[in-house]
Amino acid sequence: MPAVTRRRLGSILEPAREIDVIHETDVLVVGSGPAGLAAALAAARAGVEVSLVERFGCFGGNITTVGVEGMAWYRHEQTVEADGIGREFETRAHEMGAAVPESQSDSFELDAEGFKVVADTLVDEAGVHPMLHRSFVAPIMDGTRVIGIITESKAGREAILARRVIDATGDADIAHRAGAPTHLTPREHMMAASVMFHLAGVDKRAFLDGVRNDPQTYRSWEGNGAWDIETSGKEDEMFSPFLHKPFAQAVRAGVIPGNLTTLAGTWGAMHDTGELTYMNVVHLPEVDGTDPDSMTRGEIEGRRQAMHAIDALRTFTPGCSGARLRNFGMTIGIRDTRKIDAVYDMTERDVREQGRFDDTIGIYPEFIDGYGILILPTTGRYFQLPYRNLLPNGIRNLLVAGRSSGGDRVSHASTRNMSCCAVLGQGAGIAAATSLHSGVEIDDVDIGDVHRELDRQGVRYR
Ligand SMILES: Cc1cc2nc3c(=O)[nH]c(=O)nc-3n(C[C@H](O)[C@H](O)[C@H](O)COP(=O)(O)OP(=O)(O)OC[C@H]3O[C@@H](n4cnc5c(N)ncnc54)[C@H](O)[C@@H]3O)c2cc1C
Repeated sequence: MPAVTRRRLGSILEPAREIDVIHETDVLVVGSGPAGLAAALAAARAGVEVSLVERFGCFGGNITTVGVEGMAWYRHEQTVEADGIGREFETRAHEMGAAVPESQSDSFELDAEGFKVVADTLVDEAGVHPMLHRSFVAPIMDGTRVIGIITESKAGREAILARRVIDATGDADIAHRAGAPTHLTPREHMMAASVMFHLAGVDKRAFLDGVRNDPQTYRSWEGNGAWDIETSGKEDEMFSPFLHKPFAQAVRAGVIPGNLTTLAGTWGAMHDTGELTYMNVVHLPEVDGTDPDSMTRGEIEGRRQAMHAIDALRTFTPGCSGARLRNFGMTIGIRDTRKIDAVYDMTERDVREQGRFDDTIGIYPEFIDGYGILILPTTGRYFQLPYRNLLPNGIRNLLVAGRSSGGDRVSHASTRNMSCCAVLGQGAGIAAATSLHSGVEIDDVDIGDVHRELDRQGVRYR
């Protein structure tokens, strides 16, 4: 999509004003995606008071607001991983009827809608103080220390004070506004954004017969523009729930516009009820998730393309002739924006060559997905995530967890994945709680204390 040029028509001076402090807490987590939700639960389970602020009306981040249901589609027999709260998201969702077996892996596909209730339940059970419908707008600073945040909501501006703050906004909003150095991926190099959708009215038997009769593999991704990938070779013949042919056929037949050659991607789960969910087939280049004008265009163009994609599926995919749109994700899906400049930034070498760190807070399998690379963890190889990766340079009393933690492009293609964000979040929550218990700054936390709590919470970190 063409870049949007923001016009500046002058400026105004916003008057200073007094605002109410409405809440104080030990650990304040801002953003409730896989990272923030895990951070809040972990800190609360470690015995401190926790509050969780979220701008939307549900917890879960991309899971519930974008409709990203594939929590661990990389998992195979040999996969070695942390098994912490991220794994609990899957098992708890399955127990609560909000997950089904995933089509290509040894994992559960989450139900984006049902997970809202799973998250509510987890938050309630852990005693986390829920604060939905509040957007973070500014940090409250004491010198270089973040000591709270200002939120904006229907109630106007409010202040929340905290002894420790965790930025899990995905965009490093707090770190950025506090003045920590961050790196925004240049627009032309950003991973594509996606408008996700879910279908109803699909004939399950006919659809799955179609998949069996023409099975797709990772090799099928080749030659499809954004889906062109470098693999390690072992992935090439493995099954992939990939959809490209119906869109190419629809372009050739004139069913959809000839310029929609970017339509391609994966389906998630085919439910008994005729719902085909997690349709990840619309990919929009150069959408900047920190620019509302760019996102506005992405939302509208994404919905337009999704409706064409549905026309193509109805015409050319077995079982889909009676399909209709069930729902879009409630917001466009953004894959990369800002990353912090952390005390330790992850590297391509770390994720490809089993990085090891004394201050490890969790492990993640050798799974890389993005920037034209797809490596599946079928061999038991894994890397460790260092605590220093959560510490932004230049700003104190703040941990940054999730997809905006520090790292280069290829490391981002690994650590951005939801279960890795959950590992980072759980480590952040535990470290914040541990620092309060021992009365030290978060950058002085004793990693031995953190390891003891990770052990207690059942997280593998070596
Ligand atoms: C279309 C798409 C498909 C993907 N597919 C997969 C997949 O199959 N498997 C996988 O593992 N990963 C996938 N990913 C990547 C993954 O979803 C994200 O990288 C991951 O969710 C990041 O987790 P997070 O907790 O850091 O941030 P998020 O999930 O983005 O959560 C951040 C939360 O912070 C809130 N927030 C943001 N700003 C503010 C603010 N100012 N004030 C208050 N709250 C705020 C947001 O509303 C949100 O709830 C996909 C991503 C996209 C976009």
